[in-house]
Amino acid sequence: MSAQRVAVIGLGRMGWHMAAHLAKAGHAVSVCDVVPGVAQKWVDENGGTGFTDAAAAVSGRDIVITSLPADRELFAVADVILPVLINGSLWVDHSTTSAEGARTVHARGAEKSVAFLDAPVSGGVDGARNGTLTVMAGGDQVAFDRAEKIMGAYAARITLMGSSGAGQITKMTNQICVVGLCQALAEGLDFAESAGLDVSKVIHVMLQGSSASWQMANRAEKMLAGEYNYGFSTTLMRKDVGLVLDEAKSMNVPLPVTEMVGRMLAEVSQMGGDAWDWCSLMERQRHSH
Ligand code: NAD
Repeated sequence: MSAQRVAVIGLGRMGWHMAAHLAKAGHAVSVCDVVPGVAQKWVDENGGTGFTDAAAAVSGRDIVITSLPADRELFAVADVILPVLINGSLWVDHSTTSAEGARTVHARGAEKSVAFLDAPVSGGVDGARNGTLTVMAGGDQVAFDRAEKIMGAYAARITLMGSSGAGQITKMTNQICVVGLCQALAEGLDFAESAGLDVSKVIHVMLQGSSASWQMANRAEKMLAGEYNYGFSTTLMRKDVGLVLDEAKSMNVPLPVTEMVGRMLAEVSQMGGDAWDWCSLMERQRHSH
């Protein structure tokens, strides 16, 4: 596609790589992060222009990409950029937020003729680094068609799930399906280790059987080695579990496993694991006996 003028706000573990792929694809990228020095560091590596002020970063851009921690930061950025964005702008938000939060910003954007897509991602930091993310979007078809071309710079699978909020509900479903799985993996590895088996060999065998999963392929060896200094933080997974449980409560859907693993993740936090990848559930499991 032709080069676009794009602003990326939020240069964390995910946004950093998304912005880098956009720059590599030839787009003129301006970047912003509230943490002083981060935007400049990104510019030193990738070119473009860097800001700590989101309003300055979106000036003269009609496509904005955000990758922020949660609702609070999304609303803070909306307050700053919606007054300055030009009519007809497109805002693609890759943060995982509440569905209600996404719908609120979508409605506020519509008042200003700014199209907003909730577009949470799956695939982790490696997916962002390798440009192979999965995007699940909610919003209008016209906005999606425009955004799809941009997102192709860093995503391999991009799907419109329905109207505003549908992307976030899909992402919540993804999290429900993965939380119990990671705890089960921790239990299995701890069990095999306690029985004195060669656990790497066990993982190798299981990867060819019915219990194979992304978590097993990408995390099991690291869990075994007790390495957690990367990836998707315990803090962010606890945030996602909170979003899921709130949404489930409003629909009266019981999620007993998700609830239980949420409590276990709180224990990982108490162990000092807020910034660890959430597969540090393994650390909690090892300390539980
Ligand atoms: P992160 O905390 O590393 O990055 C968020 C960035 O946003 C930080 O650099 C922070 O300084 C910046 N920020 C916060 N408020 C800001 C503001 N007002 N203006 C500008 N910048 C601001 O988080 P992450 O791991 O990159 O995740 C980002 C989002 O993607 C989260 O919602 C997370 O749930 C989701 N996600 C993360 C992963 C993962 O593996 N890390 C995977 C899938 C989805």
